[in-house]
Amino acid sequence: MRKNLVEQLRERGIKDEQVLRAIEKIPREAFLDRHFLHQAYEDSALPIGEGQTISQPYTVAFMTEALELKPGERVLEIGTGSGYQAAVLAELGARVYTIERHMALAEAAGKRLEQFGYRVVWRTGDGSRGWPDFAPFDAIIVTAGAPDVPESLTKQLSPNGGRLLIPIGDRASQTMYRIRREGEELKGEPLSDFKFVPLIGKEGWEGK
Ligand code: SAM
Repeated sequence: MRKNLVEQLRERGIKDEQVLRAIEKIPREAFLDRHFLHQAYEDSALPIGEGQTISQPYTVAFMTEALELKPGERVLEIGTGSGYQAAVLAELGARVYTIERHMALAEAAGKRLEQFGYRVVWRTGDGSRGWPDFAPFDAIIVTAGAPDVPESLTKQLSPNGGRLLIPIGDRASQTMYRIRREGEELKGEPLSDFKFVPLIGKEGWEGK
């Protein structure tokens, strides 16, 4: 089933073989609530509790490919959710830091990642402000939709080609942007349209 999913992702345009290999290797079912196990290899987002979702595999593959990671690079993920995206990043050899605002999700994801032997540094909190203690990051991936680009995140990007992947738009739908930092210069590039749950926080949307 995982091989079929990878074929579907290939047909939809994902080309990075390392990303495809990571998705083929990681058991997505282990990141899901048992009620949704039978849907683990459908290319769809699924509920994970707290009104949140594990992203669609295509979205995970698209964002990971667009990050253009090299092994050993430092990546900050905002929105740990189930931990699946963090596992994909770790599988690519990145040094992964991840923040989730819901404690129950963060703790469950932390346990899963540990079970699989992924050394991911995680915490609970408002990721819209980044994680200054571990900055700068070679890449930052925001897996929730934001109204605008959080300044804290661009400040924590490496000035030597750091990349920020972030969906920007309204609460219902967003455009994925890749923003590159060279020195103090930021260049944004719109990539494609997606639908994410909202980024709630000081530099995101208001909410509980
Ligand atoms: N990357 C996740 C995965 O692989 O399962 C899916 C993420 S889900 C689409 C978005 C997550 O972002 C939710 O779990 C939500 O609670 C979290 N979130 C929203 N605003 C946040 C914030 N300010 N800081 C940290 N996490 C946040």
